[in-house]
Amino acid sequence: MRRLQATLDRIDRKGYGAYKDLHGSYDLGSFFLFIDRVQRDPFAPPSLVRVRTKDNRFGPDLFENPVRRVGFEDFLTRAVEEAIRNVVRGNRGSGGSGRVEVQHPSQVVLPRTSIVVTREHVEARVAVGLPARGRSADARAARTVLLEELPEVVRLALVSAPEGGVDEGRAGFHVETVEDADHLRRRLPGLGLVAFVADGSVLPRESGASDRPLREGAVPFEGPEELRVSVELPNRGGISGMGIPEGVTLVAGGGFHGKSTLLSALSWGPYDHLPGDGREYVVARSDAVKVRAEDGRSVAGVDTSAMIGELPGGRSTQNFSTPNASGSTSQAANIAEALEVGTSLFLVDEDTSATNFMIRDERMRELVRKEPISPFIDLVRPLYRSLGVSTVVVVGGVGDYLDVADRVILMENYEPADVTPRAREVTSRFPPHVPLGDGEVRPPRGRRVRASSIDLRRGRRETARGRGRNTIELGSERVDLSYVEQLAEAGQTETMARLIGQFAAAGESRGLGEVVEEALASVSERGLDSLGNFNGHPGQLSLPRAQELAAAINRIRSLEARPEAG
Ligand code: ADP
Ligand code: MG
Repeated sequence: MRRLQATLDRIDRKGYGAYKDLHGSYDLGSFFLFIDRVQRDPFAPPSLVRVRTKDNRFGPDLFENPVRRVGFEDFLTRAVEEAIRNVVRGNRGSGGSGRVEVQHPSQVVLPRTSIVVTREHVEARVAVGLPARGRSADARAARTVLLEELPEVVRLALVSAPEGGVDEGRAGFHVETVEDADHLRRRLPGLGLVAFVADGSVLPRESGASDRPLREGAVPFEGPEELRVSVELPNRGGISGMGIPEGVTLVAGGGFHGKSTLLSALSWGPYDHLPGDGREYVVARSDAVKVRAEDGRSVAGVDTSAMIGELPGGRSTQNFSTPNASGSTSQAANIAEALEVGTSLFLVDEDTSATNFMIRDERMRELVRKEPISPFIDLVRPLYRSLGVSTVVVVGGVGDYLDVADRVILMENYEPADVTPRAREVTSRFPPHVPLGDGEVRPPRGRRVRASSIDLRRGRRETARGRGRNTIELGSERVDLSYVEQLAEAGQTETMARLIGQFAAAGESRGLGEVVEEALASVSERGLDSLGNFNGHPGQLSLPRAQELAAAINRIRSLEARPEAG
């Protein structure tokens, strides 16, 4: 501590560059402080700092297995964020002076680099804007941040009560909720389900721009009797709700009755949620993929032959590439790509689908002979029959889907009802007009991607980094992930950027599935920290799914890929 104070005294009011002398590790009495990287000026990205307690006195049951540990680390990340909000004054001069930040967690619980809990200690990784006056070091303010505010953050968020501020009871509830949700999800295949929505869940969100629960006027979910499933959870005990069985499920209903809200909740079902989210016990298969139209996206060498017949000009659909896909072809490519990396559940909402991808009616079949796209209505049964891939599809307007559904859930005033028998009766009175797709579908062929088609160079440097949740920068290319709907937070984007960077740098062309699988296997074996650029603070990373990593690679505009022989 004296060494840190002496350095601070010496560099006060010197040029900002003098801060680099702070680099190093310090014993601050109750914890260790590691200053891993010092920013060059007050406007640069903040300095990277770790704080590590000298012991771990939390009950070991909070972190005794990997699922609990992730839940506990998530809890502490949120505790650090809250402590910073309460303790750190922030703005202490120019640029980011005096700001302290921890990775901001979304509504889902993920492995992240923000907190590391071991038997011996608890460590938080934060970013600190070292204070400046103009362009010189304001080391007195830095002293307040490092020697007063940070220690208080450590006490409030990394040490258990009564000495510290962490309530082990609340932490335990957090951890148990995560463990229960994980258990519930693992039970789905054995129960023949693709998803489960617990009674009492709160599905609607605060607004279109916020993923937090709607506070006022939310109607809690109450599943229909016919689809009721009860499951015993390890911590919470029995829970019951609506089980969605494998096969094809139609969600019907009038506009504004909660169809999309239900589907969106299912799309987050592969992830665990924090207590209070409302969707803690809304789970879906961990490989579920929401598929939408995305006109304008690029497509590289995708085998869309199952969905697209003959394209104008005799273009190949087994090796389909375009810099500018249409609504329907982009959605077909999204389906093929999801099958390539692997999924057991498609989620499709008519609101975000291309009409001619969903359906083609009798008159159009008659008038338009040259239609390359087989509509999804013809694929949805064969997808289940030949490939075992289930679908939940939201349809308000197209009654033809009643013919292909195993069951029909009607949303009325946010309340689901099982109307399958009524739907059968309706279909018998209005017989199907379209020939039902009874064919088989082949899985699309996997692709080889050319690593050298990804150019990381930007001027003299090489870059592969995330920019918020929706953008990856690779050299001078910006990969747009706005329509990758199941990406939860910026930390996942950063992780994907680094993994893509590694693949590109290795320069070897390989199968896409293999690239994704190996990258994530390496992360799960060596930890997210292994993606850091140097020893110490690795940056703000969280774990992506294989589906999103593949989706990110697929959206690189310069990507060259071709189907593997076979
Ligand atoms: P649909 O897709 O059927 O047109 P949405 O799912 O978009 O309907 O929902 C319409 C509106 O109702 C949205 O503003 C949504 O937030 C709200 N909403 C959805 N479910 C509920 C609920 N259970 N309680 C209260 N409001 C809800
Ligand atoms: Mg809708």
